[in-house]
Amino acid sequence: MTAAPRHLTIIGAGLAGALLGILLRRRGWDVDLYEKRGDPRVQGYGGGRSINLALAERGRHALRAADADDAVMHHAIMMRGRMVHVGDTEPVLQRYGRDDDEVIWSVHRGDLNIVLLDLAEAAGARLHFDAGLDAVDFEAHRAVFRDPRDDSTREVVFEALVGADGAGSALRAAMHRVCDLGQRSDFLDHGYKELEIPPRADGGFRIEPNALHIWPRGHYMCIALPNDEKTFTVTLFLPHHAPADGGPAFDQLTEVEDARAFFERDFPSALALIPAFDRDWRENPVGQLGTLYLDRWHLDGRAVLLGDAAHAMVPFHGQGMNCAFEDCVALARHLDAHEDLATAFAAFEAERKPDAAAIQRMALDNYLEMRDRVDDADYLLQRALELALQDRHPGRFVPHYAMVTFMRIPYSLAMSRTDLQRGILERATAGHASLATLDWAAIDADVLDLLTPLADVPA
Ligand SMILES: Cc1cc2nc3c(=O)[nH]c(=O)nc-3n(C[C@H](O)[C@H](O)[C@H](O)COP(=O)(O)OP(=O)(O)OC[C@H]3O[C@@H](n4cnc5c(N)ncnc54)[C@H](O)[C@@H]3O)c2cc1C
Repeated sequence: MTAAPRHLTIIGAGLAGALLGILLRRRGWDVDLYEKRGDPRVQGYGGGRSINLALAERGRHALRAADADDAVMHHAIMMRGRMVHVGDTEPVLQRYGRDDDEVIWSVHRGDLNIVLLDLAEAAGARLHFDAGLDAVDFEAHRAVFRDPRDDSTREVVFEALVGADGAGSALRAAMHRVCDLGQRSDFLDHGYKELEIPPRADGGFRIEPNALHIWPRGHYMCIALPNDEKTFTVTLFLPHHAPADGGPAFDQLTEVEDARAFFERDFPSALALIPAFDRDWRENPVGQLGTLYLDRWHLDGRAVLLGDAAHAMVPFHGQGMNCAFEDCVALARHLDAHEDLATAFAAFEAERKPDAAAIQRMALDNYLEMRDRVDDADYLLQRALELALQDRHPGRFVPHYAMVTFMRIPYSLAMSRTDLQRGILERATAGHASLATLDWAAIDADVLDLLTPLADVPA
């Protein structure tokens, strides 16, 4: 730590902004957080999208670093694996890990945000709600914030700005006006819509609570995550426009009767759990999904981006928030290590950009797996082999999902090992229908040849 007084202005008091506020205050920084929306603790949470989120080890580690884990876990529900709903058969649980030490957690976005805001405020961060970043004069170190309630503006002098203002970042747009960030966005041809499974009449969960439910249907799917008030949030992922094969699409389901008929045909077991289907379908908007790529995340020592503002990704690995939380810990570490802000921001970007790119790609890959493959025989055989190899080569063959979800090794390392392991699995299972017929000696040799032992990042 340096002796000089240090101040940061964080744009966005969502998930990453609030967590960063706590981490920096604990390190003695003076912190102001500006949030476009009103205070969710006063007027309820108006998050507008993805009601609940899967929290994994990377996110939990960051919460522990901020002493926020206990308060958040109070609201969390364990998800042991994927409960896959296919046809009329009983749904089957595909465990994520070996036991209940290897699970993920469902958390309500509003509860999580409120816990983090309370802790940030208690740690001494100044929170300013109804203050959306509107314009920045980087030369004069002045930022203008607009109050959406009455359109009034106020000007603030800053030393440096941190953009935690999400995928539509206003700070990113302001930086881009003075320096080309090399921005490109790839929007997915799929969007999403959320629906709700309420509690049973006796107040309990309607389906198995400790699982992430999936109804895979090839080019589209529904998932459901539990909430601690005994509801589930169902998300339908579907193309915006009809694909060449004539499959269903949001633009054909603008009338609720058509949407209901689609669910009766393709998701009857899910529809039976959603009594207010018509209302939910009409009221909840179709959300966009995409990946945001930037060549640079910082403007010398004056501004830096993190979380979705820097690297929004599709949600199919459940890692966007987890990655954003890792960003916060990394930025705080670089701010500790370098007195000069430009050096700290550059070091942060150099460390995190390859990892963000890796999880962005793995999230896109996982989309194909979730919607298309979780009920395929070859996929299930490879998954069974993955678990067998984990037992035969502990610490050397670590399943892809475990590297991303239960470990904190860099995402880029998880991705390169995943690519090697996928080759091993494909070679081993080609032409086979069961583990019993595999050539284990050849597989073991392949593993020892290609994979070095893998240790997690120390706590
Ligand atoms: C359908 C869906 C499901 C998802 N599921 C998961 C999951 O299971 N697990 C997971 O890890 N991730 C998941 N994600 C990703 C996760 O939501 C994001 O990665 C995460 O919210 C990023 O946090 P953030 O703080 O960077 O941005 P945000 O959470 O978007 O927060 C940005 C904040 O900035 C504020 N803001 C915006 N503009 C301004 C402005 N001009 N001035 C001031 N404030 C502003 C916003 O109001 C908001 O409070 C999912 C995303 C979607 C869309």
